Amino acid sequence: MTAHTQEVNIQDLKRTWLDEAIALATNSVANGGGPFGALVAKDGEIVALGNNRVTSTLDPTAHAEVSAMRAACKELDTFSLEGCVLVTSCEPCPMCLSSALWARVDRIVFAADRDDAAVAGFDDRKFYDLFEKQPASKWPLAIEQLDLPNRTAPFDAWVAKTDRIDY
Ligand SMILES: [Zn+2]
Repeated sequence: MTAHTQEVNIQDLKRTWLDEAIALATNSVANGGGPFGALVAKDGEIVALGNNRVTSTLDPTAHAEVSAMRAACKELDTFSLEGCVLVTSCEPCPMCLSSALWARVDRIVFAADRDDAAVAGFDDRKFYDLFEKQPASKWPLAIEQLDLPNRTAPFDAWVAKTDRIDY
């Protein structure tokens, strides 16, 4: 197999996975979830699926991508998704993007974008705009730092712990 053929096959695989994520998202609507679906793949195989379960589980963080990454970590018995691809029906929101960074995924593949989500009434673009254009003082929630003398105590304990598991 030539390098070119392999590259074409990888593109085909991504399209197949993305179609699956879109089908998950569409089915999610019929099952009482939000219109988002995602999966995690590794070494050419799907590891775990996830759909949006915000309203059905009363969990504002139960986005499809977070659900898929949680399930993938359980499946692979690890907290690192290094070497994995996160495939999602829609561009990840800032929370899911950050979660993917924390999970160390190698790549994100998505179909619809934040503008498509905005048309359907979702706040992804609005939150991106907060991060990219608005100072925190203009945000709809108050963020307050109190400068306590023991503020670094947890980090001091962490740095001093010799048997810690870095992540
Ligand atoms: Zn999200």
